[in-house]
Amino acid sequence: MKRKLRMGMVGGGKDAFIGAVHRIAAFMDGKIELVCGAFSINPEISRQSAAELFVAPDRVYADYEEMITKESQLPEGERMDFLTVVTPNFLHFAPAKMALENGFDVVIEKPMTVTLEEAKELKAVVEKTGRTLCLTHTYSGYPMVKQAKAMVKEGHLGKIRKIVVEYPQGWLSRLSEREGNAGAAWRADPKKSGLSLVMGDIGTHAAHLAEYVSGLKITELCADLSTLVEGRVLDDDGSVLLRFDNGAKGVLMASQISAGEENAVRIRIYGEKGGLEWANEDPNNLIVKMLDQPRQLYRTGNAYNAPYTLSSFATHNTRIPAGHPEGLLEAFANIYRNFAATASAKREGRTPSPEELDFPTVDDGVRGMAFVQNVVASNASNEKWTKFEM
Ligand code: NAD
Repeated sequence: MKRKLRMGMVGGGKDAFIGAVHRIAAFMDGKIELVCGAFSINPEISRQSAAELFVAPDRVYADYEEMITKESQLPEGERMDFLTVVTPNFLHFAPAKMALENGFDVVIEKPMTVTLEEAKELKAVVEKTGRTLCLTHTYSGYPMVKQAKAMVKEGHLGKIRKIVVEYPQGWLSRLSEREGNAGAAWRADPKKSGLSLVMGDIGTHAAHLAEYVSGLKITELCADLSTLVEGRVLDDDGSVLLRFDNGAKGVLMASQISAGEENAVRIRIYGEKGGLEWANEDPNNLIVKMLDQPRQLYRTGNAYNAPYTLSSFATHNTRIPAGHPEGLLEAFANIYRNFAATASAKREGRTPSPEELDFPTVDDGVRGMAFVQNVVASNASNEKWTKFEM
């Protein structure tokens, strides 16, 4: 592209958490600019947020419907190219669908929708319109997660036998939804959050990470969901046994009452010949444990010689030399950069490279919603195993 991609936002005002992270990520590589938004449920906060972000007052809209309608009517050289959807879960589907149907690409938060039906409908809209949809499963943006995926794909571990993925947090150890925490309040409301709090909010990240790194698909599961904080309506803790399509077994833990934990995402994956371990709290390290060999530590950005080279997927997603830590903001920016490169390539009639195409899509969103639905069904069932229905 000979110009920056133009971004619009629904949600992400001064009253929000993740919207600001999206902007940092989108702007990191200088290829995206913010041109419009309906930034908040509160019009005054939306206006204030826009002013602080230097968005022109006539591009601040009352709601996403007005934004998409009016942006569609602007000349091609002015209107937004894509819409970022960073509202609570129940407000993902409608703006994303309307944006796609009006010719805009979409970046959307997880869980992609509130129901599996909505997710499938969104996939059908993506296929019909030919537009690009990017789902922000943050952890898949880290270079060392991409290195792990490449090492599994290249067969370094042999056939995969076991996957253990964890996402413990402690921030919902109290009844925060009744103590004025707006982010906790909508998450704890089934109408706004979905069938499951813990699985929608963080279980989808863990399930995506397991399938992304291993290249395998979950085929059956056995789930135990709990509400451990008295007075809460939805679940806040879950353990799931997994079976994968190559016969591998797995364990997924997602918990928001793990008091004292921050975002302790971790994945361990074991094959016939060795294992890998990656943790969000130490994201520039990938621990490689080969059978009968000393442990090795792969580090982001290092110029290793063969046979220890970093994959093109890891290096493509690394910005600075080793020893200068990269973190969540860079991982998030990788998702934006790959999405922007793919969206631009499509507009120019160019085929994106495999590295540029490496970001979560609508298919991951459908699998995420199927995961939530299947976990809830399994928890309610007396059968030991529930087939992963799509
Ligand atoms: P939040 O409650 O902090 O912010 C929500 C924002 O949406 C606020 O600005 C609010 O005013 C706005 N909003 C609500 N209704 C609106 C409407 N009708 N029109 C315009 N704006 C509206 O929530 P959050 O923590 O930022 O989460 C937003 C989404 O991002 C959720 O789906 C959540 O699951 C997801 N999320 C993802 C990650 C990640 O790691 N990828 C991290 C945090 C949150």
